[in-house]
Amino acid sequence: MQARFLRQSEEAGKLTWTCDVCRLPVEGDDGCVDVLDADTYTHNEGNARRPARWRVLHDACDPTTGKFSYWISVDRIDTPAKLLAWTAHLMKKPWFSHTTWDSILGTHAEALGAPHV
Ligand SMILES: [Zn+2]
Repeated sequence: MQARFLRQSEEAGKLTWTCDVCRLPVEGDDGCVDVLDADTYTHNEGNARRPARWRVLHDACDPTTGKFSYWISVDRIDTPAKLLAWTAHLMKKPWFSHTTWDSILGTHAEALGAPHV
């Protein structure tokens, strides 16, 4: 009974990642959250380039297969706790502040019921 309860709460605590291409959920190891060419932005501080955009993609939906990206398999970032841990890890990257991670956090915060700040 206890184990069943724990499984149910784990399920309730899962984040939903939606594929940018087909708009269906990405689960397990079917896809990733990635950003293309993030490191190039460390060489362009101060110019007006837009931040590198994080994408959510099924492996099969990725229109840029073969291009280098920094990626996180969805099964490694499928709970709020994992999202926090990854955010702390990514904040150490010199290119991180030049990405749209704030949008990723905002989307999940809203889905989890956080009020807009
Ligand atoms: Zn897809």
